[in-house]
Amino acid sequence: MLSKCIFSVKAPAGPPVEIIRHTFSPSQSAKPTQRVSLVTGLHGDELEGLYICHRLIETLKKLEEQNAVKGEVHIYPAVNPQALETGTRLWPFFSTDINRTFGEKNTRSLVTEASRTLLEDLKSNSDLVVDFHASNLHLMELPQIRIIKNFEKKLVPLAKLCNVDLIWVHPHAEIFESTLGYNLNQAKVPTLVIESGICLRIHKNYCEQIVLGILNLLHQTEAVDCGEFLAEVAPARIVQPDQVTMVQAQNAGLFVKQTEVGQILKEGEKIGDLIGPDQMPEDIRSPCSGLLFTLREHPLTGKGAPLARIATSIEP
Ligand SMILES: [Zn+2]
Repeated sequence: MLSKCIFSVKAPAGPPVEIIRHTFSPSQSAKPTQRVSLVTGLHGDELEGLYICHRLIETLKKLEEQNAVKGEVHIYPAVNPQALETGTRLWPFFSTDINRTFGEKNTRSLVTEASRTLLEDLKSNSDLVVDFHASNLHLMELPQIRIIKNFEKKLVPLAKLCNVDLIWVHPHAEIFESTLGYNLNQAKVPTLVIESGICLRIHKNYCEQIVLGILNLLHQTEAVDCGEFLAEVAPARIVQPDQVTMVQAQNAGLFVKQTEVGQILKEGEKIGDLIGPDQMPEDIRSPCSGLLFTLREHPLTGKGAPLARIATSIEP
């Protein structure tokens, strides 16, 4: 494994802010066939990706020793290092969401300098990218890959290799245009965005599930020959935009969940209670049957806040 600093800037106090890239490549000087990059930590409070990288680095070190790395695998485990140090979602000092600063439209700042450097480094070193995210403080997510409709044709076959529970194809919205995933896909570097678990926690089973999926992706795209580490992955379930039902709070209150993500719900099944200021609990029930893949974890709930998402029709 070779480690390289791709971005470094002096900090007001303490060590410099650095973005590090670790690279696994064939020992012989043969031209690598496939170059895959794995990126985590755009949001500093999302720790699942960091753990997934730790697990993958362990395995890739063994595979490198066995000369089983055929292409190049790049791992960027902490691309927003100061936010990670403080366990915050945003880039500190500027309170900027780095995943809203990619692309040409943004004015120059330290944050956009970092995002520009990262984007260029990924573009020149990758044939395929996976960007790992956990959810925000409010919602627990079943391991899933989200794909903007325009990129569906290229990305769905790759997403199927990743051992996630769900592939959610959703319509394009302007807000995505400043994300890393959108800009790489626009630049013809296929990029999968994985969303799993919740921020500030590690859901070990979900992480292990994704580690197996990424090893399978690396094997099937011939970046790595996984040998003994290759495991069978579950078939992906794909949902189109009209197959996702969102449950929103009709009133403000305290939401107390009564189920977990991953459950197959029946229509009318109880999801939880919403306790309003009048102390009367309101039953929150599923309006349809299907797979519960998002569930509110943070009890404080405003009117209109999302409580759950259900995949109503699932094609295997
Ligand atoms: Zn994120």
